[in-house]
Amino acid sequence: GAHFNAGSVDLLSQHFPLCMRNLHLNLRKNSHLKHFGRLQYTLFLKGIGLSLEECLIFWRHSFKLITDETFNKEYRYNVRHAHGDVGGDAIRRGRGYSPFSCQKILTEHPPGTGESHGCPYRHFSLDNLLSLLQATGVNDRDLLRGVKEDVERKRYHIGCNRVFDWAHKAQLKRVKEDGSWPAAELDTIVHPNTYFKRSYLLSS
Ligand code: SF4
Repeated sequence: GAHFNAGSVDLLSQHFPLCMRNLHLNLRKNSHLKHFGRLQYTLFLKGIGLSLEECLIFWRHSFKLITDETFNKEYRYNVRHAHGDVGGDAIRRGRGYSPFSCQKILTEHPPGTGESHGCPYRHFSLDNLLSLLQATGVNDRDLLRGVKEDVERKRYHIGCNRVFDWAHKAQLKRVKEDGSWPAAELDTIVHPNTYFKRSYLLSS
């Protein structure tokens, strides 16, 4: 797979689905994320190809307001654990935890006050969802109306796929026409890492 470094995450975040984009924006705004946000984001970054070392650099640099000592004491272990560098045998053999699927993010650990994990299509109010979409450049009125209907019907990941298809309209048309992407690779997205991978590949 691809290998990215800590310094490339800001640029790569344009290819992230809204759940991870939201985590990234909040991390940059507050120089901090709470536990489940860190876990969801760490595993996603691992899934896109950030090594443990780069992941540690990423978090150390992002948490601007704390000392090395605090970082080492309170945060380093969890990042290593997620990567299977420490922890029980089974965790280490399996190289840590798998990045979360949409299903998992949509159904487990809904975010509370001050938390940024979860899925914006599922866990945000409609107003906040539409503002976040517009803030990330998704501003087509018909599209936003479609997303609103998806969310009202509780078809959250369909709303996310609708945004993906809109944001990559031209590239998707191209790969469909020239047959360079097999149909199986154009299935509905059900994993944030698939969203990233497709977006990244379509742009290169
Ligand atoms: Fe993330 Fe999945 Fe929600 Fe899209 S549907 S924002 S990929 S959790």
